[in-house]
Amino acid sequence: MQKHVLVTGGAGYIGSHACKALKAAGYVPVTYDSLETGWEEAVKFGPFERGDLLDRARLDEVFAKWKPVAVMHFAALSQVGEAVAQPGRYWRVNVEGSLNLIEAAIAAGCLDFVFSSTCATYGDQDGVVLDENTKQAPSNPYGSSKRAIEEMLRDFGTTYGLRHVIYRYFNVAGADPEGEVGEFHQPETHLIPLMLDVVSGKRPALTLFGTDYPTPDGTCVRDYVHVTDLVDAHVLGLRWLEDGKANRVFCLGSGTGFSVRQVVDEARVVTNQEVPMTIGPRRPGDAACLVSGSDRAKQELGWTPTRSTMQQMITDAWRWHETGHYDK
Ligand code: UDP
Repeated sequence: MQKHVLVTGGAGYIGSHACKALKAAGYVPVTYDSLETGWEEAVKFGPFERGDLLDRARLDEVFAKWKPVAVMHFAALSQVGEAVAQPGRYWRVNVEGSLNLIEAAIAAGCLDFVFSSTCATYGDQDGVVLDENTKQAPSNPYGSSKRAIEEMLRDFGTTYGLRHVIYRYFNVAGADPEGEVGEFHQPETHLIPLMLDVVSGKRPALTLFGTDYPTPDGTCVRDYVHVTDLVDAHVLGLRWLEDGKANRVFCLGSGTGFSVRQVVDEARVVTNQEVPMTIGPRRPGDAACLVSGSDRAKQELGWTPTRSTMQQMITDAWRWHETGHYDK
């Protein structure tokens, strides 16, 4: 019998890549997405159910229809700047939406849950290499909302036996090497796609959000991980739960930090073109440095990232940028 997995946010960047990986692993990914920030064209690997996380009746209907064996929960608002400007929206959509989803899953007897959390739950911790044991201290409402959902999963696990794997993502980049899906936000706020817009002449210049951080070149340092490596870990997490293993948190990063300027330097090499830049103020809520320092996912899940070099991520993002996009 085919196993269905409910993928919230399956029409988004990471969720669509996860659907492809799930299909390749023999599952049927059922996308649940409001299309507020997702793209119906990105739903290519299984059925689509349009719906909002805040709509409990719709969630119940979808659980009853597909009887998923597990949930992969990607759907969320995820922009730091927006979160600082609109904290209420982030708490409502992310936290209340996740509460609805968790309660609907439990009511339907679907007790395996794979959750997308974030390194933003750590906040600004000067010079600390972040791993699963690092204290969480979010510095913006996006991080706070994700930390709250992590706690919610633990509480519902204790009472109802909900089983979970929590992934704390670092910065996700790149695109499907076969070009079926890729990163496309409207409006775009992320560094790599914005930078590629500049390379292709769609934008005049990249603004560096602050050059006075306590980092080697003054720009923020992030740890970038390829989206296909990231979603591979999710399939391993699903199997982890199927094998009856314990609730677990895993950091997913490459373990290497790149400053904004270093990312731009690599883009120059990959595209063989200049990237005009201007210097702007810091973006509220940004941490100076977020770099992962754990091999837990590799050691325990057997995760083996294969595409998470900066050169490969920009190469794949650039190919998608030049050939693929979605239209509303
Ligand atoms: N950034 C930047 N200019 C931009 C977009 C992003 O300097 O136009 C910086 C941002 O401040 C952060 C890094 O690039 O330090 C990555 O930002 P992004 O929004 O891609 O991901 P985030 O770190 O917020 O998850």
